Amino acid sequence: LCQHSTTGPIETTLCDYETIESVNGEIYSALSELVQTPFFKYFQADLYRECPFWQENGFCMNRECGITTVDESEIPEKWRAAALSKIELPPLEERVPLPGCYYRDADYCFLDDMTEGEYVDLTLVPERYTGYSGPSAHRVWKSIYEENCFGLSELNLLTTRSPAQVTLPDTLTDVLREHINGENGDGECLEKRVYYKIISGLHASISTHICLEYLNQTTGEMGPNLECFVTRVASHPERLQYIYFNTVLLLRAVSRIGPYLRNYDYCSMPTPHDHVLAEDIQEEAKSLATLSKVIDIAEHVGKFDERVLFRGENANILKEEFKMHFRNVSRIMDCVGCDKCRLWGKVQTTGLATALKILFEMDETALDPHRNQNLLQRSEVVALINTLHRFSESLQAVETFRDIWKKTGESD
Ligand code: FAD
Repeated sequence: LCQHSTTGPIETTLCDYETIESVNGEIYSALSELVQTPFFKYFQADLYRECPFWQENGFCMNRECGITTVDESEIPEKWRAAALSKIELPPLEERVPLPGCYYRDADYCFLDDMTEGEYVDLTLVPERYTGYSGPSAHRVWKSIYEENCFGLSELNLLTTRSPAQVTLPDTLTDVLREHINGENGDGECLEKRVYYKIISGLHASISTHICLEYLNQTTGEMGPNLECFVTRVASHPERLQYIYFNTVLLLRAVSRIGPYLRNYDYCSMPTPHDHVLAEDIQEEAKSLATLSKVIDIAEHVGKFDERVLFRGENANILKEEFKMHFRNVSRIMDCVGCDKCRLWGKVQTTGLATALKILFEMDETALDPHRNQNLLQRSEVVALINTLHRFSESLQAVETFRDIWKKTGESD
């Protein structure tokens, strides 16, 4: 049953996808609980920086594009800007050097300054249809694809079928089987393809969320729009495959960082004072148990072999280029002309960049939670988990669309 493919770090067997598909329901429900907890729901971002690449005039005035930020007094004290600016790093001699340079040099994205930016409660601003589109949105996507480290822009080059030719097969694996069978090595280097897959998968996942909660112009209600999903995602089977690709990459990162996450000080209580309520302790224990469940599953199914990338003669140059271009993607997010889209764009590029940093910049010593307690910033941990939740939700959404498709077929 397991067909082998030789084109990349995770396309080893179709069984990998089948495994993800079989556990996604479990991962999704655990992550959905987790992202509601105080630690994971507040994200700090500087949402109003200037676009560094062009003058951005495409601001979306639609009500759906806006967000409400949270007053800092609602944020548990230890995460507030003032407290964060006081964070002390361990003495130099106790820091474990990462391969390459420590801290910022290892980052795959520009993190917003921890003492600037506002807090947003992510649970109050679901990623969905906002109406942001047209030249501004297209320009941002185009620039992101053109960041492809090696000058490749595959936009529009992939197989497209008209919606009438598309069918939603019974299992996701069927879609993938069809694609994998059709995929042949195109002579491009692996890193170039990986960059493209990450971006295209992110784009497809965002599109899936838009189509899942799309504005019905007649009723004014939000709801799933099958045609939107078929046009943007299902008629391009490789896009679905890239949603999987990103999911596996993120799971692999969560699994590598598992011991660190299990030892992380989440302390979801407002202040770590003596009169801590019993419910708070229970609440935190519950969150930790849920997180542990996600890590357990990630350890089981996160089969991404990062060792096949950045090897050989020009490995370091390639890696630096990859990193630089990914950092640029995080800066392009400042050019997104819709607050809500920019926020989720920042969360997800930070989440993916954190995963890449974990996979390509950290060795086992660096990952040891006892030796290195300040490995990641809070915003990186929050972004990593929320991004995995986004992708897992997209895979769930495919099930929803498949059901709608079947029902539509039955009623015809
Ligand atoms: P677009 O999605 O804009 O795509 C442009 C072109 O890229 C397409 O014509 C196609 O040729 C190609 N393409 C599309 N998908 C892929 C893929 N997966 N892989 C490769 N090529 C592809 N809108 C919302 O309503 N809500 C949001 O939360 C939201 N978030 C956004 C976040 C970011 C970072 C950006 C840049 C945009 C966001 N948008 C959001 C806008 C949204 O992504 C679309 O741009 C918009 O809905 C217009 O869609 P479109 O059909 O014109 O094609």
